[in-house]
Amino acid sequence: MSSRNGDAQREPALSAPARALRKLGLVRDIDLALHLPLRYEDETRLVPIGALHAGDTAQVQGEVSDCRVEHSRTRRQLVARIADASGELVLRWLHFYPSQQKQLAPGRQVRVRGEVRGGFLGLEIVHPVLKVVEPGTPLPQALTPVYPSTAALPQAYLRKVITTALARAPLAEILPPDAVPAGLPTLREALATLHHPAPGAAMATLEDRSHPAWQRLKYEELLAQQLSQAQALAERALLRAPPLVAGGEDGKGDDLRARLAKALPFALTGAQRRVTAEIERDLAQTRPMHRLLQGDVGSGKTVVAALAAATAISAGWQCALMAPTEILAEQHFRKLVGWLEPLGVGIAWLTGSRKGRARREMLARIASGEAALVVGTHAVIQDDVQFARLALAVVDEQHRFGVTQRLALRAKLGAHASDDAVPLEPHLLMMSATPIPRTLAMTYYADLDVSTLDELPPGRTPVLTKLFADDKRDQVIARIRDELARGSEQQVYWVCPLVEESEHVDLQDATATHAELSAALPGTMVGLLHGRMPAAEKAAVMSLFTGGQMRVLVATTVIEVGVDVPSASLMVIEHAERFGLAQLHQLRGRVGRGTAASVCVLLYTGPLSPTAKDRLRAMAETSDGFEIARRDLEIRGPGEFMGARQSGDALLRFADLATDGGLLAQARAMAPRLLRESPAAAEEHVARWLGSRADYLKA
Ligand code: ADP
Ligand code: MG
Repeated sequence: MSSRNGDAQREPALSAPARALRKLGLVRDIDLALHLPLRYEDETRLVPIGALHAGDTAQVQGEVSDCRVEHSRTRRQLVARIADASGELVLRWLHFYPSQQKQLAPGRQVRVRGEVRGGFLGLEIVHPVLKVVEPGTPLPQALTPVYPSTAALPQAYLRKVITTALARAPLAEILPPDAVPAGLPTLREALATLHHPAPGAAMATLEDRSHPAWQRLKYEELLAQQLSQAQALAERALLRAPPLVAGGEDGKGDDLRARLAKALPFALTGAQRRVTAEIERDLAQTRPMHRLLQGDVGSGKTVVAALAAATAISAGWQCALMAPTEILAEQHFRKLVGWLEPLGVGIAWLTGSRKGRARREMLARIASGEAALVVGTHAVIQDDVQFARLALAVVDEQHRFGVTQRLALRAKLGAHASDDAVPLEPHLLMMSATPIPRTLAMTYYADLDVSTLDELPPGRTPVLTKLFADDKRDQVIARIRDELARGSEQQVYWVCPLVEESEHVDLQDATATHAELSAALPGTMVGLLHGRMPAAEKAAVMSLFTGGQMRVLVATTVIEVGVDVPSASLMVIEHAERFGLAQLHQLRGRVGRGTAASVCVLLYTGPLSPTAKDRLRAMAETSDGFEIARRDLEIRGPGEFMGARQSGDALLRFADLATDGGLLAQARAMAPRLLRESPAAAEEHVARWLGSRADYLKA
């Protein structure tokens, strides 16, 4: 027998509740200590039976005077009477076990709790919580916690293990007293209060989490996060990157950047000029840029990236640009080829579907440095891709990359040796059309500088958004037919949802819709685009649509990000209620890119959940990406916003960015001071709170 099996055998078998604990992640004492009650029950007081009113939830104690099973025509019930010195109360069970009747033998003292109602025989409690007690049994001194739990984990068991764990957990104060906002309890006190609040505790503040004990806990958590961000920032400050100045450091070389600016078919907006200057200031530094460029859909981020690339290339280095989908990568590739190839820049193209000899040739051009710009999907950061002199990485739609991909990217971009053996790291520019609300930026992206494009290129007409129940679908199709028949130049996106779990079914939806529209629009070229199509076919469909021959494009959400066809001016989204708010906004951003007035039709199928209603209303009311992001945060909460489900771990357990902005600001102000004055405490605090999760915060 291998020693491994031996170990397994030595491990004691876990009881069912212990297994259930493990399943909830409640393994260490500290895990249990941080497993906080959902609510509390007050078992600290007894109400005289005579003082009860219908509607009260109360605990009383009395002696059983009678207990019997009563039969009506339809059911059996267990009915007991108890009395104290002040009155009598009926207890009633519609479902019961024979053992319960035995428990309620006349003469026994019982303590019962539940909601009192007026019954046929006077006041009664149906299905009370019941405990047989000896006369004189003391009442609990604290409110009784009710924990989040599962069927396999009885509350009584959970209460017991948590009480034990709370006493044992290493909860000594790590933070110096002046690092904690005045008036807050110690961590141990805070947890004691939250698990076992005193009977007089301000219930409302415990429930809405504004109680000082809650504040302490939230502050601890926020501070840990701010500290880890500040550490990341400090670590980055120690890194070295090649300073990139257009035309070389003496400014006398070829200024590709200036040539590109001159060759562009449009003038930059004020916002584009401002963020370009911010980026170029960073690129000229000897420490790596780590900047997020956020700008609403259509605000013109691509050209900003192209200018940054031109700066890097004219300084003699390579640039990589990564997009989350092949369609988007290809579109960037075409655009950049159009802009930069005439200026003499070698551009390579790498995606997962490019294999064999073509791929080997690309890799050789990248390794030799002949390709100064490399565009592609995450294939760009695969192991076998070796850059000669990579100095700038641009990640488009960065929020679309999973947490693990973002971590892989940072690992790949890690320091590599330069000619003079000084390890250098590339500059990093991330782009996103999903603006990050301020509180989130402060929490999760403290190690990131943010540039914002807050201005759209001129000549855009706002998109009019209309909501229709799906029984109007035929009318929408008829409108499209009439428009096209009138000889209108209109191009239409028709979007079908793609829910990951049932990709197959949705594909049928898109295919069926494609057939339906083709039949309804004779003489019109209707295309179909979905994620399962081979890349070449996708590209062919896209180019027909971009070229204008194809008028209607039925697509799953593969067009969601970045696709740019300025002449498309109508978008219909089917089952709009199934999409997230950010996703709807991204989709809508595909129209309204030209000068034609654009319309977005959201078809929905009722009944709508309250959050679906909120989302659709937000879409109809605003087209401002920042406002959308704010509402999205409100509707969904930050966990989902961050794609936390991807990481399998919610990043904030206790603090709520929507309500705890004040504490966040305090934690943010304290973090650098603590790192400076008590670095050991800072490190210990981060380890206690984040442990293995610290990495995710860097992604
Ligand atoms: P996004 O920020 O969504 O990535 P894009 O970079 O795709 O936006 O730009 C949207 C469209 O606007 C593109 O067709 C682009 O060429 C065009 N564009 C960008 N900047 C300007 C500008 N300053 N003036 C006019 N058109 C512009
Ligand atoms: Mg884009």
